[in-house]
Amino acid sequence: MRSDTYHLGLLGWPLRYSLSPDIHTAALQALDLDGDYHLLPMPPFPAGEATLIGVLERMRRGELQGLNVTVPHKQMILDYLDRLTPAAGAIGAVNVIFREGEDLVGDNTDRDGFLKDLETTLSPAVGGGLVLGAGGAARAVAHGLCELGWRVWIAARQLSRAGDFVDVLREQGFQSVSVLPLETDEIESISSVCTLVVNATPVGMAPQTEASPWPSTLALPLGASVYDLVYIPEETMLTKAASKAGLPATTGLGMLIEQAALSFERWTGQPAPRTVLRQAALEAMASTQRMGGA
Ligand code: NAP
Repeated sequence: MRSDTYHLGLLGWPLRYSLSPDIHTAALQALDLDGDYHLLPMPPFPAGEATLIGVLERMRRGELQGLNVTVPHKQMILDYLDRLTPAAGAIGAVNVIFREGEDLVGDNTDRDGFLKDLETTLSPAVGGGLVLGAGGAARAVAHGLCELGWRVWIAARQLSRAGDFVDVLREQGFQSVSVLPLETDEIESISSVCTLVVNATPVGMAPQTEASPWPSTLALPLGASVYDLVYIPEETMLTKAASKAGLPATTGLGMLIEQAALSFERWTGQPAPRTVLRQAALEAMASTQRMGGA
């Protein structure tokens, strides 16, 4: 929906390390668009529900033109929206909200952001993908890999949460997907057929930069590529371990930029200046590090 002014924001908790205000403010300025992007802290439910209802009301009144949604709300937000795009419906998670007519529409740009950056940075051949975590981001990643024909394992500490999603994937015709506990022996049992490891948990993200989601006693799969969705710090314990083992690895900055660019395009209808977005993110990361945050 075209607008004269773009009041945008991010719903999530905690939001201390978010780069989104820097990225989207830079995009608005580069395109000479009037607007702003604010952090909208929303605690987990039930405490956050009043905030959510208030923010969505503002959007319905036209006071907000676009929202991003992040940890831990990407799944519960579905119940508060009028419609979902096919991507958001298939994945069962929303990271972007825009208005179409009177409707608040939930979309998912994490999946396409991940796939584009995976191809750009690591371009692995289709094989066996192990996804660590079973939250909103893991759903987007697993769905994208399934669509490309990967054999996918979802390793989670809550098997029921991951199992529900695997049922959804199977209903969509993706049969080569299963769940396993996020435990050393279980991961070891499939390690030899794993050609891609994706961290979709927050483990390793600032301020817990000394932690890794990969079991400390287990070697990374031989010949695998490693994609860590965490983007602060620039290198995580997981990507450092991968590099040390001679494996191609990346953190999630490229995905962050691409999902943001796709969000911006949904809200404004204009092509997002991706180099500007990346530069803004890098500058914000440098200042976060100067503050000792990451
Ligand atoms: P989420 O919905 O809260 O899900 C987090 C998942 O990680 C859940 O399965 C959770 O397990 C698991 N988890 C949390 N702490 C864990 C721990 N200590 N050990 C093992 N598993 C743990 O969050 P999300 O939206 O999926 O995001 C996950 C991460 O991806 C975040 O760090 C986020 O910043 C990052 N991300 C990056 C991008 C990007 O563009 N680069 C995009 C999206 C997300 P339980 O269900 O048991 O709690």
